[in-house]
Amino acid sequence: MERFDCHCHVFNILTVGWKAILEELNESVSLLTDEKGNTLSLNAVSVDKQKKVKIKIKKLVQLIKIFTGDSEKIFDMLDKNYKRQYKLFPLMFDGDFLLDSASNDHMQPIHQLLADAKQSGLLKGSATKGSPTVAQNLMLLADNDGKLLMDFLAKLSEQSAPSKMLGASKDGFTIQYEQIEQLAKNAKYKDRLVPFLGVDPRRSNVKSYLSNVGAGKLFAGVKVYPPNGFSPYDKVLVGPDSVFEFCSKNQIPVVSHCSYGGFATPAMSIDVNGYIVPDGKAEAVAYSGAYTFSKGLRDGFTVMVRERAGVLNNPLVWEKVLEKYNNLILVLAHFGSGSDVWQADILRLLKKYPNCYTDLSCMSDVPTIEAAKAIYNSNPDIQDKVLYGSDFFLDMFFNDSFEQYLQRMQKTLGAAMFDKISVENPKKYMAKWYALATN
Ligand SMILES: [Zn+2]
Repeated sequence: MERFDCHCHVFNILTVGWKAILEELNESVSLLTDEKGNTLSLNAVSVDKQKKVKIKIKKLVQLIKIFTGDSEKIFDMLDKNYKRQYKLFPLMFDGDFLLDSASNDHMQPIHQLLADAKQSGLLKGSATKGSPTVAQNLMLLADNDGKLLMDFLAKLSEQSAPSKMLGASKDGFTIQYEQIEQLAKNAKYKDRLVPFLGVDPRRSNVKSYLSNVGAGKLFAGVKVYPPNGFSPYDKVLVGPDSVFEFCSKNQIPVVSHCSYGGFATPAMSIDVNGYIVPDGKAEAVAYSGAYTFSKGLRDGFTVMVRERAGVLNNPLVWEKVLEKYNNLILVLAHFGSGSDVWQADILRLLKKYPNCYTDLSCMSDVPTIEAAKAIYNSNPDIQDKVLYGSDFFLDMFFNDSFEQYLQRMQKTLGAAMFDKISVENPKKYMAKWYALATN
């Protein structure tokens, strides 16, 4: 029986994830410094904060260990976990616009960290004496993994410093694109590979890539990630000659990240054109111009992400998109996990729009999965609209192993529901667009 993982990722952590890593590190750095960015001695950092940093570093190290290979290696890893019995939908992530000039300020502590580490010889793994630096404190809290972490930072700083990477001739998008192309040529995988093109409306020639999306093309669909700094109603995405118009006309599925969490641009101010839900409002309003956020990384990663998610990626904004393109095949991924209000709004959209779907992906604790299951059970009319996904390898931020993720999902949902969302529903969902592609 063929199963489907409708939401996974195979990009190398260095093409996209390094930004996530640096942002995560940034939060750890901020816990180890005072308001002015001066290093605190470890005695001055509370046990709770030290614990938080330790946990974060442990996860980062795990990701660094596994996901610095190329897309094929990562695809193969997931494929093997599934005993090669799943069709996989790898979604590209265009993270190249995540860090604009405004957020370079936020990266300053990381540049400082790299410089510190270099100067104090930490990159060679030898802690030095003298007044402590943040790099030294991080290394102390990292226990045995300090060297690995510092070596990774060294790799970033020496051959691919963030500033250099931003201006590199091949950006993260291009590297991912080429690796997907490569994978699609590989006979070993190509029958089970269903890739989605990452679209960020700020990429100047983004519409030119649409010729490679659709029936029989390299990409089956489109993936967007609005918290990166744009409205789902951006005029590149919605309106005459837009991406979603193209998708709607040609029955091309669109997947959007849609949890009240995940990841977001750390920029404090962005240029918006299209509907958003400004902070404190409970409806989508048309907006054009600079929008300034009130929370930044210093307020904590989760707080920072939630503000941006609420403004940019609110299901109420997606409702506007669906009002315009009633038939758009749209997956609002993660079932609004993290907010009851979002889940209620997504449920409403699932009921109203025949081609609107959601997925259960990156749900990494039993209560979260159970909450989604309860909604599923009490709403028989949306039971065909729920798809299974792993969010591999990003789910590894929250799990010790992939087996742990899969088993928790299977056990909590039960065999009947897991079969429904990983076999039956994806088949029907795909029939709306993939049957064409295989002819
Ligand atoms: Zn994802």
